[in-house]
Amino acid sequence: MAGLLLSLTFTGCEQPKETLSIIPVPLNTEIVGGAFAVNEQTQLWIDAPEADKKILQEYLAASPLKLSVATERPTDNFILLNQTEGVGDIKSQEGYVLTATKNGVEIQATSGAGLFYGVQTLLQMTKEANKVALGTITDEPRFEYRGMMLDVSRHFFGLDFVKKQIDAMAYYKLNRLHIHLTDAAGWRIEIKKYPRLTNFAAWRTGKNWKEWWNGDKKYVEEGSEGAVGGYFTQDQCREIVEYAKKHYITVIPEIEMPSHSEEVLTAYPELSCTHVPYKQADFCVGNEKTFEFLENVLLEVMEIFPSEYIHVGGDEASKKSWETCPLCQARMKKEGMKEIDELQSYLIHRVEKFLNEHGRNLLGWDEILEGGLAPNATVMSWRGVEGGLKAIEGGHRAIMSPGGFCYFDSYQDAPHTQPEAIGGYLPLKKVYSYDPIPETFTPEQAKLMYGVQANLWAEYIPTPEHLEYMIYPRILALAEVAWSAVPNKDYDDFHARALKAVDELRAKGYNTFDLKNEVGNRPGADKPIEHLGIGKKVVYVDSTQYYKGYAAGGDDALVNGILGGWSYTDQLWQGFLNGVDVTIDLEKETPIKSVNADFMQICGPGVFMPKQVIVSISNDGKEFTELAKVDHQVVKDDAVTFKTFGWSGEANARYVRYQASHDEQFGGFLFVDEIVIK
Ligand SMILES: [Zn+2]
Repeated sequence: MAGLLLSLTFTGCEQPKETLSIIPVPLNTEIVGGAFAVNEQTQLWIDAPEADKKILQEYLAASPLKLSVATERPTDNFILLNQTEGVGDIKSQEGYVLTATKNGVEIQATSGAGLFYGVQTLLQMTKEANKVALGTITDEPRFEYRGMMLDVSRHFFGLDFVKKQIDAMAYYKLNRLHIHLTDAAGWRIEIKKYPRLTNFAAWRTGKNWKEWWNGDKKYVEEGSEGAVGGYFTQDQCREIVEYAKKHYITVIPEIEMPSHSEEVLTAYPELSCTHVPYKQADFCVGNEKTFEFLENVLLEVMEIFPSEYIHVGGDEASKKSWETCPLCQARMKKEGMKEIDELQSYLIHRVEKFLNEHGRNLLGWDEILEGGLAPNATVMSWRGVEGGLKAIEGGHRAIMSPGGFCYFDSYQDAPHTQPEAIGGYLPLKKVYSYDPIPETFTPEQAKLMYGVQANLWAEYIPTPEHLEYMIYPRILALAEVAWSAVPNKDYDDFHARALKAVDELRAKGYNTFDLKNEVGNRPGADKPIEHLGIGKKVVYVDSTQYYKGYAAGGDDALVNGILGGWSYTDQLWQGFLNGVDVTIDLEKETPIKSVNADFMQICGPGVFMPKQVIVSISNDGKEFTELAKVDHQVVKDDAVTFKTFGWSGEANARYVRYQASHDEQFGGFLFVDEIVIK
């Protein structure tokens, strides 16, 4: 079977199951042994409507398979693509059946997309030796929406880059490309009616986002010295749409509202509550001109993008300026609104109505739930999964892209081995582990789960090479989450396939993360450690209670034997806003040799090392003797760092008290994972 890309997986005592090296893993694979070899005489025959036939023929002509196009239906040495009314048990339009015999390969599907996905499977099977294992693959996606979002605002990535990613998305059977076209860092789409959006709001100071964000945060005229940015012309957007269409991918444009719009409100300050540039991120919802602007922009956007959905952002509005703005207040009064949130939902509802009138549907981040969800809207859940679940409970569709599993701007390996990222820790395995459908869902609710999406926010990703590095191979895991049936998922098997895929992607010129040299999680985070304090009672001082959002499981978190991983967000680190002061009761006088705790620092989100640590002991729990007082100078930097603070020596004690204090000039959080007593 050499050269056939077969790997063997063993599950329990069953027979070894042959799997092909295909990502995402197909629904059902039956391999009978032997192979069909594709050569230059192999003839292609496509039986499909003209438009699909043209796309598939051109696509295959540009592929590594050098096929001859048959003039009549061939009977030997063939590749047949056959669009039919129904194919076996396949329910999805995107499903297909690929049958390989010694005479050739036939792919059957009910749509051009189905044939296209069969072709992707064929290409993956033939990638090394031009051979197709004999047998039948019956395959269809688990979710209809399988997406990736590119943020081209924080850093602009141009036409060729987007096309290159579309190539890879299609190969792994993803079908939605969501482009975040507008944000504070730059407006990225030509709008004929509002030229200031691209000759001014698309350009900024600062060679990268970080320098701009931490610097003067100014916009500059297009063509001025040092201007950084760019935008897609309308023709380029059409080219992206057309290119994506030939890969059976729908492009969903995102135009942010009511917030994340500093760039618009500096170019057109009359659309803000204060009319002062550089003052706010939120549109004035009281002003009719805001709606005139948004509708005009959306008309041009809809003209270019034929997608069912138009994404309107909707996230992170501060709503501050609305509280004191006469127009916003007048709007509230007129509409009988009590809460400021209702202004947000007023805008979203009104924009949804406008989109619906033009035959489109509204998609937005989960904040669009605030103040009441617009009737036909679909929610993209990013602040955890709750938004999506709530939308589904209300009978709406949801797309899941929770930060903990789908935010590819997080570190994918030990931070000290990686380029600077926004934070977090999202290795391949964690992406792979995600299941968008909770066990508690009814079948009806599960039907409303539209799909899943990876988000590539680009604040810390200044170059196209870096962006690819963050995408690959994690997007392969997401593709399998989105496409493959849960019982077919197996991380070890996937990992073996992903290693091959990384080599293949590199050979095609993609800059991928070096999966084979992955370091993995922080030691102690996956496997518990032993020490004297495990399972013992921890007493917290009320004034220094841990922060509920970072409880890491509660009162026993510091003595559960599990260390924190590379991110304070992994629920293994306990967070403190007012210093740490805990006492552990060892239940009897015990000889001890060391008391230590690790802290982590990542300054961006306000996580700092302690300024001072004190370790003391007692035998009655009242009178404490200080063993060590460690002073530490907190230094602000860009790195993610870990440090151990504590005491070692010889002592006998029943009670061990561990105190740590903040450096007041920085404030923020202290994060501790475990008080390790030996
Ligand atoms: Zn206002």
